Amino acid sequence: MRAVRTPAPTVTLEEYDRQVARGMSEAVWQNHVITLLLWCGFPRDTIYHTRNSIGSQKGFPDLVAIRHRAGVSTLVLVELKRQNGKLKKEQEVWLAALRSIAAVVNGMCSTVRVVVDVWRPADRGRILELLRNETWKE
Ligand SMILES: [Mg+2]
Repeated sequence: MRAVRTPAPTVTLEEYDRQVARGMSEAVWQNHVITLLLWCGFPRDTIYHTRNSIGSQKGFPDLVAIRHRAGVSTLVLVELKRQNGKLKKEQEVWLAALRSIAAVVNGMCSTVRVVVDVWRPADRGRILELLRNETWKE
């Protein structure tokens, strides 16, 4: 019996992962992030997304999530973007304002951490590390 040779892979897992990230819509990416938040102990009841933004202030981050675990309360405010999506001016204003508050809170309190960030599909590994690490501070 002759051994069957499999062709050498032409695409690495890393390249495949980059291609998947590049082609992901923001809606699909958002579902991934919500799943990641749930896996990392954020209760579904405290994960918020504005479904219909008509009439709302422009630029507020896409997701807000809260978790109380291991003596640390975490507040996440993230703008989600496609891999090559650009921030709008209003989003930059909100993120800057929230980052200012986060820096003060994170600097003052060891039992509260505030995460203000822009998350893109290629950031998945970094996000998972960040959410798993109970003591991480921005
Ligand atoms: Mg967005």
